[in-house]
Amino acid sequence: MKILVINAGSSSLKYRLFEMETESVLAKGVADRIGIGNSFLKHTGKKETVIEKDLPTHEEAIKVVLDVLTDPEYGVIKSADEIAAVGHRVVAGGEYFTESALVTDETREKIRDIIELAPLHMPACLMGIDACRKVMNNVPHVLVFDTSFHSTMPDVAKLYGIDYDDYKEFKIRRYGAHGISHQYVSEEAAKIVGKKDFNLIVCHLGNGASLSAVKNGKCIDTTMGFTPLEGLIMGTRSGDIDPSVVQYLTHKKGWDVSQAISYLNKNCGVKGISGVSSDFRDLTAAAKAGNMRAELAIDMFAYRVKKYIGAYAAAMDGVDMIAFTAGIGENTPEVRERVLDGMSYLGIKYDEKLNYDCPRGEVVRLSSPESKVLVYVIPTNEELVIARETLRLTKGK
Ligand code: AMP
Repeated sequence: MKILVINAGSSSLKYRLFEMETESVLAKGVADRIGIGNSFLKHTGKKETVIEKDLPTHEEAIKVVLDVLTDPEYGVIKSADEIAAVGHRVVAGGEYFTESALVTDETREKIRDIIELAPLHMPACLMGIDACRKVMNNVPHVLVFDTSFHSTMPDVAKLYGIDYDDYKEFKIRRYGAHGISHQYVSEEAAKIVGKKDFNLIVCHLGNGASLSAVKNGKCIDTTMGFTPLEGLIMGTRSGDIDPSVVQYLTHKKGWDVSQAISYLNKNCGVKGISGVSSDFRDLTAAAKAGNMRAELAIDMFAYRVKKYIGAYAAAMDGVDMIAFTAGIGENTPEVRERVLDGMSYLGIKYDEKLNYDCPRGEVVRLSSPESKVLVYVIPTNEELVIARETLRLTKGK
């Protein structure tokens, strides 16, 4: 059975086609610059290709994706009818969606209601869903949410210290994000340990970054909140900040609140601190060359991760495993080292050399045999979770 996974952004549409019997990727790619000119599709299937084509809407984009997937030279299937179902990544599920759901007129309307919660991302998700449903109207479509995994958070972790009536009326609470990745890594970690009942901290460290505390397979806390702006210092996001800074910024810079929030999302984090880049490859190179602000940015990033690990060890009454994942978690030993050093109070011991020689794209145990806490690098695979969820919800339909 073949499943197409779609991840739609405001001007891009990423896709991955899976053969579910073997869980293998048959083809993948991205339609980029949709609706903003100079659009193109980059595809890897039987062969790689880049197709330059005007893509005014997501509907045009998905049509070109189907064309290339069925192309005799570059494609991997004879006809679009071979695709049994489509899985869509959805950034926010609000309080309504606590697990994946089939797309129906009713669930689509619910998604519309949730747009308010994530106005930056949700309109693009909806555009992707609508375009795919229109072009592929004969197959089931499934919604897989980045917030579902965090829906098990208890009230003590998910509520803010605001008036409870405002939480009830406006649904202002912590929802978290990156849940699909946290779920994948948690399931892989459980396979490694051979049981579900243990305390795990997942460190999803990418351009967006978040930690989750996973007790007995269930998320009990995570660092992102009402939006992905809360928590860790990220590539361009400030993470936790006193909200009064927003008011002060509007006053000092003559901005409105939206401008201040956009600044905290796009111009801060390690990019703002270093003045160099949001990319850790640039940051580590600059730090090695003696750039003190790049060094400070890496230190601050790691310090915030370390602080939350301490918090989550306290929240779970101990930690059995720490798992690093995503671009930085998998590929930047300088960050892992700064996080793991000075954790003797938790009994963490790890192989410092292996941390630097860690093979790419593999599950690697960094902790030494005598360490009280297991430390692993577990490469994430969000698309596979979406494909598995899509299979689960559409089997027999
Ligand atoms: P992500 O958002 O998960 O794609 O992670 C992106 C971040 O991972 C980038 O900002 C890079 O700083 C970092 N990174 C470091 N090394 C690599 C690498 N070899 N491949 C991809 N990302 C890397």
